[in-house]
Amino acid sequence: MNIALIAHDKKKELMVQFCIAYCGILSRHNLCSTGTTGKLVAEATGLPIHCYLSGSQGGDQQIASRIACDEIDLLLFFRDPITPKPHEPNDNNLLRLCDVHNIPFATNIATAEALIHSLERGDLDWRNLINPSLY
Ligand code: PGA
Repeated sequence: MNIALIAHDKKKELMVQFCIAYCGILSRHNLCSTGTTGKLVAEATGLPIHCYLSGSQGGDQQIASRIACDEIDLLLFFRDPITPKPHEPNDNNLLRLCDVHNIPFATNIATAEALIHSLERGDLDWRNLINPSLY
């Protein structure tokens, strides 16, 4: 599976800790990320991560375009709902594209936990279960 990671500044340490905790699961998948988030996670975990540009330079748009091309299977986007900064990735476009392409996403650690366990169990392969004409 191709997994994209993005964390607003106040959530970056949380993303790092999450990735340390689930390093074993994440290591079995292809990871990509916005620049700073990916750098921090890679340094902390040793996981190979394809780092796009920093969010402020358009890295979130690069990930959005991969979602639009159906090249991302899961998005973990830890956003700061309290004090988002002007340069930080705008969630609306990313999350809208996830809905257009039926990509599971988490915007907080509670949902991320649920999704990572679903991923491990193989529950994210829902396309095998439902008639494609319905989605
Ligand atoms: P970054 O992008 O990982 O490059 O910081 C996300 C953000 O700008 O919050």
